[in-house]
Amino acid sequence: MRKLSLVALALLVLICGISLVACASGDSERDSSGSSSSLGSDLGSEEIAADDAKPYYYEEGRAERYASYAEANPELSYDEVVWRVDADVDKGFYEDTAVADDPNSQLVLINKHSSLPDDFVPQNIVSISGGAELRADAAEAIEEMMRDASQAGVPFFVRTGYRSIAWQRDLYNSYLERDTQVEVDTYSARPGFSEHNTGLTMDLSVEHVTDMHNFDNTPQSAWVAENAWKYGYIVRYTEENSPITGYIEEQWHIRFIGREHAKAMKESGVGSLEEYLVKYVWHLPPEK
Ligand SMILES: [Zn+2]
Repeated sequence: MRKLSLVALALLVLICGISLVACASGDSERDSSGSSSSLGSDLGSEEIAADDAKPYYYEEGRAERYASYAEANPELSYDEVVWRVDADVDKGFYEDTAVADDPNSQLVLINKHSSLPDDFVPQNIVSISGGAELRADAAEAIEEMMRDASQAGVPFFVRTGYRSIAWQRDLYNSYLERDTQVEVDTYSARPGFSEHNTGLTMDLSVEHVTDMHNFDNTPQSAWVAENAWKYGYIVRYTEENSPITGYIEEQWHIRFIGREHAKAMKESGVGSLEEYLVKYVWHLPPEK
């Protein structure tokens, strides 16, 4: 009997020991490893002490993407991480792209993550003075803007407005004969991924200026940067938002988003259409 009890006791100690080790190693694994699928929720609960530390545009289903983007970009604030992921900036350009479900909206987001449907043709395309084509709402606003610019002594014209997706394909392919695809992607959009395909976007130019890059740093470009919002336009690609859009600075490329939103975007101080949509359209700031 005594011998049996000793064996039982030894077994008990052994079992307890094993389970203690198992428990301990389980805990330490969760604490130290960054590779398990619970990474997002664990990091989430550690880094975000309370719900009020999460920005209002935080979306629960994206916890893992926030965590891995934050890990890869330690220099970014958490708020910056969250809005960028909401705008798909964590995805590589032209990887896992989506098709916009609101291609006729003034706020449609067309970038290297979101395209127009393949067969998209905007409605109400009209010709403006000088011959470029635009959607009627954008055309009316740019005509007024050009009149006011002329009166202010800084006349400019629209070099290119609406481009069909087929035209964009030809243009993009022609650049590929000159530069590598990596280079071309910094200044030209792939077909269907160009804002010019929406009819809401145009490239501005100044009389007697042949290279459109020379629009930069003209009195006209300064006037446009200062006043475009009053007419519903934004300068879409800036030096500041280049990491978000993947394009070089283009002071001549302006996009119509409507007067109300262009004004709100200016007042908000955000640096890109992507950031504006996440913070003021797709999510609404809590009322103060
Ligand atoms: Zn352009």
